[in-house]
Amino acid sequence: MRRVLRQVDSDFSNLVSDLQKLIRQPSVSAKNQGIEECARLVSKIMRKSGIRTQILKISNATPLVFGEVRSKKNPTKTLLFYNHYDVQPAEPFELWDDEPFSGKVKGNKIFGRGSADDKGELITRIKAVESFLKVHGDVPCNIKFVIEGEEEIGSAHIESYLKKYRKKFACDAVIWEFGYVDSKNRPIIGLGMKGLLYVEMSVKEAVRDAHSSLAVIIKNPAWRLIEALDTLRDPSGKILIRNWYDEVEPFSKEDLALLQKEPFDERAFKSEYGVREFVAGKRGIEVKKALAGDPTCNIAGMISGYTMQGAKTVLPASATVKIDFRLVPRMDPKKQFARLKSHLRRNGFSDIKIKRYHGEAASRTNPTDPFVSCVRDAAKDSFGNYVVNVSNAGTGPMHSFASVLRAPCVSIGSTHVFSRIHSPNEYARLDLLKKTTKCMCLIIDNFSKQAN
Ligand SMILES: [Zn+2]
Repeated sequence: MRRVLRQVDSDFSNLVSDLQKLIRQPSVSAKNQGIEECARLVSKIMRKSGIRTQILKISNATPLVFGEVRSKKNPTKTLLFYNHYDVQPAEPFELWDDEPFSGKVKGNKIFGRGSADDKGELITRIKAVESFLKVHGDVPCNIKFVIEGEEEIGSAHIESYLKKYRKKFACDAVIWEFGYVDSKNRPIIGLGMKGLLYVEMSVKEAVRDAHSSLAVIIKNPAWRLIEALDTLRDPSGKILIRNWYDEVEPFSKEDLALLQKEPFDERAFKSEYGVREFVAGKRGIEVKKALAGDPTCNIAGMISGYTMQGAKTVLPASATVKIDFRLVPRMDPKKQFARLKSHLRRNGFSDIKIKRYHGEAASRTNPTDPFVSCVRDAAKDSFGNYVVNVSNAGTGPMHSFASVLRAPCVSIGSTHVFSRIHSPNEYARLDLLKKTTKCMCLIIDNFSKQAN
């Protein structure tokens, strides 16, 4: 192993130059900019590293890059890396210090859209595999790559890809597309993601806006919507829809032990966001439990009437709200949507139109899964320390992987918490890219040695 890790050191300048090539190829899925070109570039870089690739395509989806190296020594176990080659739009351009797709290196940082999310993460994995191939001409276990091109716009087709290519993608464990490194340089080993139900509710009353003096006789759709919204949750955040929590299970003993250990700096967090108090006055372990395991009903946006400068006395014709509900394991987005619809009906809000945008189930890997210990040991050896996170508070298509491939998913990576992903001046730290590449080598090695 020592030779493989030394190989990572001696080859590091190639990692940086390949990452620069990837950053310089814009691949903005939201605008369909450079997507096919980037898929081809990823495939080219992987082939140069000794990984067999294939560009897969299903209708209406962006291409998916599949990569594979079969192990001569140990072909019975397979580790799969999930990544994405698409990036967020770079706007607002004027807030970037350099050109957004520059790949410029300054000191310990490499800048550009995608440098961290997710091209930086992807390159560490490709180079880890390349290091084994250069030293041993083989990998310790089979390696597969699934690299999609629409993660930043909601991964709408990843489940169809997984189902169609279930056999091709078959594996025993999955390393998730991203991983954070906290402000104390500890990698965060993530075991889960929350699910999501995204809906739009709207009320239309009149055919056009009216003079607000008519509010005495014409109903105001904004009030109507607010009355409906008020029935959805109480001020503590508890959702009041019947049977909403039916399937939710309490944390296991192991989860609770991990939550106790997980660091969370309440004061720093509050000052970062300029908030005085958390929802329902939560503090200590309650905050960590909520982040990992509480469903939410969040108003993402509301539009009605006049919201520009000065006063305008108007009675709006319609009102619209967008709501995201975060879901936790065992909640089915379709079932929850049906519960929401019958809640509105039962409470006399049948006039409110409701549309479902997006549904995704939550996923959580059991902390006692042997694969988790492979990752923990590798993190300890490469970073000296680590943090285990029971579940990310955000959403990703982890449930699709866990259910279709029936494999545990764990996230770990190189993205520093303040890497400004999705924002101007996104960067990746070179020291973390190198440590993470070594960490990936160690994960592959630990995993290959673990009994089937
Ligand atoms: Zn992203």
